[in-house]
Amino acid sequence: MDFGRRSFLKGASMAAVSVPAVAAVSAASATTTHETDVLVAGGGPAGVCAAIAAARNGASVLLVERGNCLGGMATRGLVGPFMTCYDKTGSVQIIRGLFNEIVERLVARGGAIHPKDCRAGTAFTSWIKIGHDHCTPFEPEALKLLLDEMCAEAGVKVLFHADFVEPLMDGTRIAGARLFTKAGFRDVRAKVVIDATGDADVAFRAGVPTEFGDPKGKRVQPATMFFRIGNCDLAAITADIEANKDNFYRKDGVNYRSLHWRVAEARAAGDWNLKRVSIGLFRGVKEDEWFINTSRIMGVDSTDPESWSAAESAGRAQVDQIFRFFRKYVPGCRDARLLCTGSTVGVRESRHVFGEYRLTVDDCLEGRVPADSVLLAANSVDIHGRFGPMSNQYVTVKNGNWYGVPYRCLVPLKVEGLLVAGRCLSATSEAAGAVRVMPPVMAMGQAAGTAAALCVKTGASPRSLDAAALVKTLKEQGAFLG
Ligand SMILES: Cc1cc2nc3c(=O)[nH]c(=O)nc-3n(C[C@H](O)[C@H](O)[C@H](O)COP(=O)(O)OP(=O)(O)OC[C@H]3O[C@@H](n4cnc5c(N)ncnc54)[C@H](O)[C@@H]3O)c2cc1C
Repeated sequence: MDFGRRSFLKGASMAAVSVPAVAAVSAASATTTHETDVLVAGGGPAGVCAAIAAARNGASVLLVERGNCLGGMATRGLVGPFMTCYDKTGSVQIIRGLFNEIVERLVARGGAIHPKDCRAGTAFTSWIKIGHDHCTPFEPEALKLLLDEMCAEAGVKVLFHADFVEPLMDGTRIAGARLFTKAGFRDVRAKVVIDATGDADVAFRAGVPTEFGDPKGKRVQPATMFFRIGNCDLAAITADIEANKDNFYRKDGVNYRSLHWRVAEARAAGDWNLKRVSIGLFRGVKEDEWFINTSRIMGVDSTDPESWSAAESAGRAQVDQIFRFFRKYVPGCRDARLLCTGSTVGVRESRHVFGEYRLTVDDCLEGRVPADSVLLAANSVDIHGRFGPMSNQYVTVKNGNWYGVPYRCLVPLKVEGLLVAGRCLSATSEAAGAVRVMPPVMAMGQAAGTAAALCVKTGASPRSLDAAALVKTLKEQGAFLG
């Protein structure tokens, strides 16, 4: 296996690495060892930004992804649009940097609508003014292609169909990872490892303390199987929504996400038995395409193979019912076609890492901005279905127009040489309910990748890295930090 240009050293010795008991089981079959400066596990929005940022800052980078494309939930899960990247007032774009570069490059090729042009109360998003204003609709196939290109340009080596299996530990320092590939087990040694698996697989197996969901009853947000439909008549759907405006839950704008009057009809006719009363639907970049965020699978544990597996089929069964509903009850969708379901069920929540700092819901709502903030966000605390499939909690920032996510939330306790980025950051379940959405997660990735490259350059560990130098570099490289 050739990891290409840059500094991957084939056949490096494993002598210096002490493998924990769990790793020893498979050691005999892990035939090849490689070296890289930075190993990123997981190619979702966080991981891909981490990998690009680390490579642009001079590190050799290997990005390993279990699927066949980059983008994680944004591509494999069909999740979209990118939630807001603006402040609470909707007047300042506060998530910029790599996120904005990706958006602008997508816009240039017709693969996205820039958030400055996408306002709340339109078919692309919802009626919620704070948090759903200035979203970014995008085309997942265009995103897949662009992320491949951006990784190649930066010199990131990407390995698809590769699962992180277990860490290679050198005492309390993570020294690399064992992967499972089509060719069997492969070992990679790295100076810094970034866990962007969403589920904190690396941190958990390396011995970092984690918490599953909300500790009160170990509840997690529900999983959702997204799907995409085409051949829809936008004018007819719009006319139906206009005609039913008086029928809305909310009177403060146009609600394109609901169609609850149609759900009620279907339920009365025996065509709807799901515990949902409305539809989450988002227009795609192409006029006749919609992305449907409506199925809800409760109590899924994506770290448990049986639970995750059952969720995939349960999600598809719900999609079947919802799609039939569209064809029968929604004007403009009588001839709709089911284009695809997600290639993975969408997981909103699983493990949360304990790091040097844990972001709290008060930090977000009170608009706190610590000095080592590596990103600013104004995303609301958005917790779906915690108390049953019908429940939703949505709380907006109270003080100020944004809050900061400190670097310390990316530095896990107990293990050296490791950073986390993405929805598994060190945050309480409620705070993660705010920063788990894609723009902040991408900014976190940029911060983690930049931090990793600075560690490689300076010889610092992630825990001892000069956060002020990191903040300065991020600002120089396009991040808005106030
Ligand atoms: C149903 C749903 C609706 C959502 N709606 C929105 C929305 O409208 N707007 C918005 O901005 N955000 C939304 N979100 C949130 C957002 O999509 C996620 O929180 C975000 O994608 C998290 O990014 P991530 O990179 O941390 O993880 P992920 O996107 O989950 O990516 C993790 C990647 O790691 C890979 N991976 C995992 N484990 C391993 C392993 N052991 N080895 C190798 N690879 C591995 C996965 O295949 C995946 O590609 C939604 C999420 C869900 C589930």
